[in-house]
Amino acid sequence: MDLSDAKSVVIVGAGQAAAQACQSLRMGGYEGGLTVIGDEPALPYQRPPLSKAYMKGDLPEERLYFKPAAWYEDNNIEVMLGVSATGIDRRAQRVLLENDGHVDYDALILATGSRPRKLPVEGADLGGVHDLRGLADVERIRPQMIEGHRLVVVGAGYIGLEAAAVARQMGLEVTVLEMAARVLARVTSPVMSDFFEAEHSRQGVDLRVGARLEGLKGQGGKVTGAVLGDGTEVPADIVLVGIGILPNTELAEAAGIGCKDGIIVDRDARTSDPRIFAAGDCTRRLLVHYGREGRLESVHNAIEQGKLAAAAILGKPRPPEDCPWFWSDQYDLKLQIAGLSEGYDDIIVRGDPDARKFAAFYMRAGRLIAVDAVNSGPEFMASKKLIMVGASVAPADLQDTSTSMKEIAAKAAA
Ligand SMILES: Cc1cc2nc3c(=O)[nH]c(=O)nc-3n(C[C@H](O)[C@H](O)[C@H](O)COP(=O)(O)OP(=O)(O)OC[C@H]3O[C@@H](n4cnc5c(N)ncnc54)[C@H](O)[C@@H]3O)c2cc1C
Repeated sequence: MDLSDAKSVVIVGAGQAAAQACQSLRMGGYEGGLTVIGDEPALPYQRPPLSKAYMKGDLPEERLYFKPAAWYEDNNIEVMLGVSATGIDRRAQRVLLENDGHVDYDALILATGSRPRKLPVEGADLGGVHDLRGLADVERIRPQMIEGHRLVVVGAGYIGLEAAAVARQMGLEVTVLEMAARVLARVTSPVMSDFFEAEHSRQGVDLRVGARLEGLKGQGGKVTGAVLGDGTEVPADIVLVGIGILPNTELAEAAGIGCKDGIIVDRDARTSDPRIFAAGDCTRRLLVHYGREGRLESVHNAIEQGKLAAAAILGKPRPPEDCPWFWSDQYDLKLQIAGLSEGYDDIIVRGDPDARKFAAFYMRAGRLIAVDAVNSGPEFMASKKLIMVGASVAPADLQDTSTSMKEIAAKAAA
């Protein structure tokens, strides 16, 4: 469907993908009405620092925002904050709002993001038990991040481990509870899990893998501890839950748009309704470099789909699709990840984990499919390009640190 004469574009959700779509539409020459509806009270902001520099107090709040309020005014973008979209009337091309209002669209972008999974145990609603998704969560958590306080982190994924690192640096006593047999089990290999487990233990985190949380105990409505499956009790002043997210698909589902663990979109970020697009955490998409569908939870994905949706609305050529990438900061370690390692048949380690500077390359049938690079920028950058072209790389070259990544990339491209 040609939407290049659209007079009104509406975006539901005011996060990373929405901010990108606004920029791409205006920079791409779209001059019609542009409305963003966000249920949080804040202008679009970056979430990654919430479990990193911002949580630690090293980044002022104004640095979180993609653009100041004046930018939206200057670009004639109406931002409706603190307002929830409650429905989509596809026949009338109308988004319904919680305050009985509505906004009409010629093209609609759903950028509703995701929400934290709730802890399915008794005591999950006690005071002092927190999710970590938005600015408001950090405002609740930060006053409790006091030296000597006991923090229990439930879930050893990236967000949980980042928060654990920040808390240790702030002088809290930290216990991490992970149900799986190793940390980061869902996203990386045992090589990386071992490295991060050793690092957190060295930093004084009490890391317990294979630990099933039975429930949370409290007194006077406030959490006092976590009870494990084996009956052990871990005292806690504050509990942070990081056990994954769920895509916000309810609006799309209620409107009859195709969803399957995410709003299903094509390579232009278009849903089953040709006037409706979706971008970011809420989507399920074709992972073009892997030949399968999946859901990505990353800044890269939100930015890319924001651009794809804008290009499709403007009738412009599809921007290139990058391989998935992600990062995590823990202590002085910068982990950069390119590609998806699932399904690898070989791992090649380059560099020395003890020197805190190394990379794990994931291969399938001789081709590089992903890398986890710790304090190793060149390994990350070169791998991104190699993964996108499905390059075959000789393991011996990768292992040999006297051969630069530039040389390896040039050889693989020849
Ligand atoms: C603590 C934390 C750390 C992270 N660290 C990293 C990292 O290091 N690297 C990385 O790549 N990614 C990281 N991420 C993930 C990254 O931030 C997300 O993938 C990204 O924000 C997704 O953008 P989005 O626009 O899809 O969703 P969001 O940014 O979540 O925006 C969606 C917005 O839509 C709103 N909304 C939902 N439903 C409605 C409705 N019906 N009406 C109105 N508004 C609605 C939501 O409240 C939200 O404000 C992190 C996330 C968190 C929470």
